[in-house]
Amino acid sequence: MEFRKNRRDEYQKLLYLQVENWNLMEELKNEAGEARNLNFLEEIIESDLASGKCESIMTRFPPEPNGYLHIGHAKSICLNFGLAKKYGGKTNLRFDDTNPVKEDTEYVDSIKEDIKWLGFEWENERYASDYFDQLYEWAEELIKKGLAYVDDQTQEEIRAGRGTVQTPGVESPYRNRSVEENLKLFREMRDGKYADGEKVLRAKIDMAHPNMLFRDPLMYRIIHASHHRTGDKWCIYPMYDYAHGQCDSIEHITHSICTLEFDVHRPLYDWFIEKLGIFPSHQYEFARLNLTYTVMSKRKLLELVKNHYVSGWDDPRMPTICGIRRRGYTPEAVRMFAEKVGVAKREQLIDLQLMEWCVRQDLNERSNRYMVVQDPVKVTITNWEPGKVEWFDAPLNPAAPEGPSRKVPFTGEVYIERADFMEEPPKKYFRLKPDGEVRLKYAYIVKCQEVVKDAEGNVTEIRCTYDPTSKPGAGEWRSVKGTIHWVSIEHAKEVELRLYDKLFTEPQMNSIPEGKDYKDYLNPDSLIVTKGYAEPALLEDKSGIAVQFERVGYFFKDPDSTEEHFVFNKTTALKDSFKF
Ligand code: ATP
Ligand code: MG
Repeated sequence: MEFRKNRRDEYQKLLYLQVENWNLMEELKNEAGEARNLNFLEEIIESDLASGKCESIMTRFPPEPNGYLHIGHAKSICLNFGLAKKYGGKTNLRFDDTNPVKEDTEYVDSIKEDIKWLGFEWENERYASDYFDQLYEWAEELIKKGLAYVDDQTQEEIRAGRGTVQTPGVESPYRNRSVEENLKLFREMRDGKYADGEKVLRAKIDMAHPNMLFRDPLMYRIIHASHHRTGDKWCIYPMYDYAHGQCDSIEHITHSICTLEFDVHRPLYDWFIEKLGIFPSHQYEFARLNLTYTVMSKRKLLELVKNHYVSGWDDPRMPTICGIRRRGYTPEAVRMFAEKVGVAKREQLIDLQLMEWCVRQDLNERSNRYMVVQDPVKVTITNWEPGKVEWFDAPLNPAAPEGPSRKVPFTGEVYIERADFMEEPPKKYFRLKPDGEVRLKYAYIVKCQEVVKDAEGNVTEIRCTYDPTSKPGAGEWRSVKGTIHWVSIEHAKEVELRLYDKLFTEPQMNSIPEGKDYKDYLNPDSLIVTKGYAEPALLEDKSGIAVQFERVGYFFKDPDSTEEHFVFNKTTALKDSFKF
């Protein structure tokens, strides 16, 4: 345990340095005005364009509509659409809907919405099922060429016959059927004569091939189920390996980009295309994206939703695109993240902090600022004229002080954060303390004169005086060391705050110890619901993106909000909360 903890700390330190370095690298790059090095895919594309291997490029994003897209898919989307855009090519959206049992139009709709939200436009919306007729014809063609056969073995027999990496497989007793018999049987399969699992169509390649996938891979299986687009037209469905390359070829995809685990499939991809003599699409693989403190398999995400560990696919703790959107992430931040992650050839685990860094970068520049107090203590200003309200102009974004502003009301009773006052402060404490001065942001300097406590000794009120000459814009600016946020109690609007944290407690969720389940690591504190007191302008915000609660973090209005009840989701803290 101890060892593991030490290793964890080491690991955290390295990741922290990594994030620090990103900052530095960004600055250096900007200073040098230097173009980014090409990634390996860009190198391939540039060389293919230069050699005339292809005139223009065509990519595709091929989701299976069996779940919502997650941040890993976002990486793939940014890559496929981004490369095409960079090189003047086009990208198709192709739903890989070859398994009728798991697929649904609900997912199709959400996938389209998410891609659009990310800011990409596809050239054509296609479905693998659009090509079922063509794929079927090509299957007959392979049968006629003696390159495919109908096998009557059960799934178990086929699996057993495949052999192992060390031992060759054994040929099916049905392997040498005549072309005529194969054609007849395959047509009968198509016509619904057989039950699920009774027969399959296999490519006839080599049962002793060192690549296990070449040991007569399955091309078609029988599934008597309604398909979300083709209904009951088909009861045979093509396997991924048979369908994917051919679909790419039909669409003249020049660069078919997928994740690393498909590299062993590439020779088979090429084999079908070569045997059919069709447009030569090529497959390239890059490392899938893994993020710390989360899981990305659709199966696990579905389980979290189904068993109510989260409120839905769009729960702001989920790594889904709709989840992070509800959390307050912007498309710009996600694209920046995808860019920074880069394109690797080896498995990569990216720290969540990089994603948070990206969203901070984006929101820091663009988001409107408001003051919200979460854990209030009352400050009474004893020399303030009772009932008087003074309205201050505060910039919506201090980075653009000349830009639009908001009106902030100041009165004789305000809330400040309990944490911004200390009765017995350490030496360098610059916030409010007995006899100390602090500036209430955008307004006056106040001085603490008296602390009122209840019977238990809790501070219930801080009595201050204000300095009328410290009004911003009037006379000479007097500076004090501390500035804190506040809200006028009379004007404060109560809002619900949902404070989100990591969904899991373990950074490396894809290497958890044996005997443990990923759900054992759910973070019990991943959601804390609390209240805040906001300046009134917050409720009028029309920016549509997350706002900054000054000195605290970024928050995004949740769709659960009503006219009377506002709910804000915490996107991320203002600064990295990580310490070591
Ligand atoms: P999951 O394993 O979560 O079910 P999947 O790969 O089966 O995901 P698909 O809908 O088939 O999901 O994926 C569509 C595309 O997105 C594929 O090209 C796939 O390679 C890519 N993709 C999926 N997950 C990641 C990831 N974590 N990082 C990068 N690309 C990914
Ligand atoms: Mg897949």
